[in-house]
Amino acid sequence: MRILLIILILLLILRLFRKKKSPPDLQPAAMAPDEVHAALETHVSFYKRLDAAGQERFRSRVKHFLDTTRISPVDGVAVTELDRLYVASSAIIPIFHFDDWAYNNLDEVLLYPGTFSKDFDHEAEERNVLGMVGDGAMHRMMILSQPSLRAGFEQRGAGNTGIHEFVHLLDKADGATDGVPEYMIPKALVAPWISQMHRAIRAIREGASDLNPYAGTNEAEFFAVLSEYFFQKPQFLKEHHPELYTILDQVYRR
Ligand SMILES: [Zn+2]
Repeated sequence: MRILLIILILLLILRLFRKKKSPPDLQPAAMAPDEVHAALETHVSFYKRLDAAGQERFRSRVKHFLDTTRISPVDGVAVTELDRLYVASSAIIPIFHFDDWAYNNLDEVLLYPGTFSKDFDHEAEERNVLGMVGDGAMHRMMILSQPSLRAGFEQRGAGNTGIHEFVHLLDKADGATDGVPEYMIPKALVAPWISQMHRAIRAIREGASDLNPYAGTNEAEFFAVLSEYFFQKPQFLKEHHPELYTILDQVYRR
């Protein structure tokens, strides 16, 4: 009888132990709604600035994004529930004021352990890419470096790789990744935007600008980097580049 009891207890312990260990490719357990709220309020300044009704809408759109988009680890990355919230927040922030918008041009986001080269090879010599929107075989995919995704929300600087890549996706939606998001920008602002953009790119290339030099790469990078400023450091943009701020304010319908 006692032996039976011991076996029973042992079996119970084994069962408990097994339950705790889950295979690494499984999605992490979903957070409770109040945990989601606390995590977003701590790490996502855009969310923190919304009123209660806005925060509720934000959470429901984050949930919808996570229900419809796969977020997959590459090479042993452990994807946490907070990582998933960061990816979803990066996606929702730029389209938050477009009520019924979703990303129909995206199925999956891959999280890499570090930076990677343009051929998605994270062990190649030239590894300076933090995020990328896929083409060709990688069509409908986005790749993000997990450390830069996290840094975008946790370091509170002007940069945010997640937002940057989702802005490229929005720019790409009209068929051309050219710094002019045709579905978002009011028609009357297209010409002023292009001329302001070219003027600012010229200033960056001449070393006469306080903007991140990467924005001077081309129009698409300019739009993505300026959008990072717009959501991360709106006050800086408003004070130092009011003409760009005013246009972006209307692009994002704030
Ligand atoms: Zn870019």
